Amino acid sequence: MNKRDYYDILGVDKNASKSDIKKAYRKLALKYHPDKNKDNPEAEEKFKEASEAYEVLSDDQKRKMYDQYGHSGVDQQFGKGGFQWSDFTHAGDFEDIFGDFGGIFEGLFGNRGFGGFGSRRSGRRGRQERVERGEDLKISLSLSLKEIANGVTKRIKVNTKVRCEKCNGTGSKDGKISTCPKCNGSGKVRQVKQSFLGQMSTITTCPRCHGKGKIIENKCSFCNGEGRISKVKTVKVEIPPGVADGQYLKLNGQGNVGPRKGPSGDILVFIKEKEHEIFERKGQNLVCTFPVSVTKAVLGGEIQVPTLSKSVKMKIPPSTQPGKVFRIKGHGLPYVNSSKKGDLYIKAKIVIPKNLSKEEKELYEKIKPYDEERDLKPGKSFFEKVKNYFV
Ligand SMILES: [Zn+2]
Ligand SMILES: [Zn+2]
Repeated sequence: MNKRDYYDILGVDKNASKSDIKKAYRKLALKYHPDKNKDNPEAEEKFKEASEAYEVLSDDQKRKMYDQYGHSGVDQQFGKGGFQWSDFTHAGDFEDIFGDFGGIFEGLFGNRGFGGFGSRRSGRRGRQERVERGEDLKISLSLSLKEIANGVTKRIKVNTKVRCEKCNGTGSKDGKISTCPKCNGSGKVRQVKQSFLGQMSTITTCPRCHGKGKIIENKCSFCNGEGRISKVKTVKVEIPPGVADGQYLKLNGQGNVGPRKGPSGDILVFIKEKEHEIFERKGQNLVCTFPVSVTKAVLGGEIQVPTLSKSVKMKIPPSTQPGKVFRIKGHGLPYVNSSKKGDLYIKAKIVIPKNLSKEEKELYEKIKPYDEERDLKPGKSFFEKVKNYFV
């Protein structure tokens, strides 16, 4: 299915300001509000579509990604099934439209497969399942440049929540789980409210069972009724060659399990690159500032320079100037999932010798007149310009 352009959905220009976007969304939200479209199931979809567009375009970062990469730039923000009401973070900005946060939508959409806004509190997979998804865990992994160059497999200890074996994740000591008497198992209670749209029957989370619809009479003492316990788990992370600082890998389903048999969250492994003493990274290229003696810079010669795996010989031409950069092809970092590699750049740093011996000094004295003569040559020399400056 081809997804519509977010700007088209809201009917705004690509350069629309934030307030234009907000205005456009408000108009659509009122138009497609389910309370005004009781017999029009299409309105729900329109409302949801507009809300998704607003969710992305009202956020500078997400909007930038969308402008640059289109839907593929932002789709991963939402779950597998795409945008859900639980992904909508702006209900609070439109209280007149959305009413009590978490209320209206559970009532109007809840039974028909929409996740309510309240699912922020109850896991993002939607209210209708009435199970909480476990939390994602973020961990950071420091890698040396060499590990990044070659790829590496790491085993990391992570503090996670795993299913309680004592109660098999149910949270109940004796397996007795009864239906909540207050909401009769629906997890919701009905309320009548006044809003500017008129009287609305809204449905909110049942205060007795907190929306779960079930009540555990004897909590499992091992997990205190949560159905999960803390455990240090070792996870294996395979890092492909070429990753960069700030990127992350997702270990699907390896995060915390949800309470009471809820699905598991993910582990996000964020890459941190350790600084290297010699190489500076620029994308997939490496830069190394390398000392070159005055005589080699003047006369040319061969130097032995380091790469990530070994040292290699490199020729430098006569009259090599300070800061001159040489490229050694293919000795940079690999690109992720590619056989392509970056390059290594060697930047010459001419080293002026210190503590000269008497003999060396004499030799430098001998060539001094040649240097002075070169300075005095008429034309473009810097010293010529300085002389003119003071006249
Ligand atoms: Zn209840
Ligand atoms: Zn338990």
